[in-house]
Amino acid sequence: MPLPTEGEVLVRVKAAGICGSDLHIYRGERSDVALPRILGHELVGEVESVGSGVTRFSRGDRVTVDPVVSCGKCVSCRRGYDNLCSSVKCLGVQVDGGYCDYIAVPEEKVYSLPSGLAWEKAALIEPFSIGAEVLARSEVREGDKVLVIGAGTIGLCILQAMKLAGAEVLITDFADSRLKAAETLGADKTVNGRTGDLAAALADFTGEFGADVVVEAVGMPRLLEESLGYAAPGGRIVVLGFHPEPAKIPEVIVVKKELKIVGSRMNCRRFPQVIEWFEKGQVNPEPLISAVYPFEKIDTAFREILEDPEKYLKVLITY
Ligand SMILES: [Zn+2]
Ligand SMILES: [Zn+2]
Repeated sequence: MPLPTEGEVLVRVKAAGICGSDLHIYRGERSDVALPRILGHELVGEVESVGSGVTRFSRGDRVTVDPVVSCGKCVSCRRGYDNLCSSVKCLGVQVDGGYCDYIAVPEEKVYSLPSGLAWEKAALIEPFSIGAEVLARSEVREGDKVLVIGAGTIGLCILQAMKLAGAEVLITDFADSRLKAAETLGADKTVNGRTGDLAAALADFTGEFGADVVVEAVGMPRLLEESLGYAAPGGRIVVLGFHPEPAKIPEVIVVKKELKIVGSRMNCRRFPQVIEWFEKGQVNPEPLISAVYPFEKIDTAFREILEDPEKYLKVLITY
């Protein structure tokens, strides 16, 4: 068991989610990740002990951890943009994370869970923080028409965040099962991009005006290229992916429509907002949970997801 140093909280992990990025690392597809590495950045648990100087937590507290590791000193950190820290890391990606029994983390990255919130649901706070970041970056306004491309866990978190902001959302994916979940979660319209006609559906949805906000939640250059066509004049396009291939962006479209193309990276201190959503029951994590495996079966969990990725939304590990 590690010991918490000054300012650290030692968390006994109770549940952790498996994310798309974990699958990429598992398959050795992330050259920026040095192996071996303990993965796991969507974690919740119980405080085991605290280091000197820790005042907000004590043994037994139920908590979640913001996985954004930042230095607190660089220009971005001083401006409040932890996620843009010059040496930013993500817990469980560039430093060891939560697929283990105990993890020591800085107190300022630890947040109390609403009382009575089950561990499994609480593990979804981190994916929702991605949705909260996208929401902020999109500058969405009430009544805006939003197109979300991709109805995986992140797409469905973004959908719920957009609905909270009063937007109307069209969401598209190749998997009907995911679109079903999207309907349960309040999507105004769903389109299967493989069997349906997205462009026609969007034209109908927006009265031919285009989407005020397009969120490219799949991470493919081709979809970013297509997003330029889907966006309305004055529209915003939010990009989340890490694909290394460049997309072809015709500047004439960006200029003529005065588009904003914005990135959204992890989350910037969005945990309090998301925890409030959970506390007030404003978001519903339940339909996002596809399967739960005990920690001993974590390897089985990874292999089964990789065999049939479309079958799963969020898969959780419990301890
Ligand atoms: Zn993730
Ligand atoms: Zn920094």
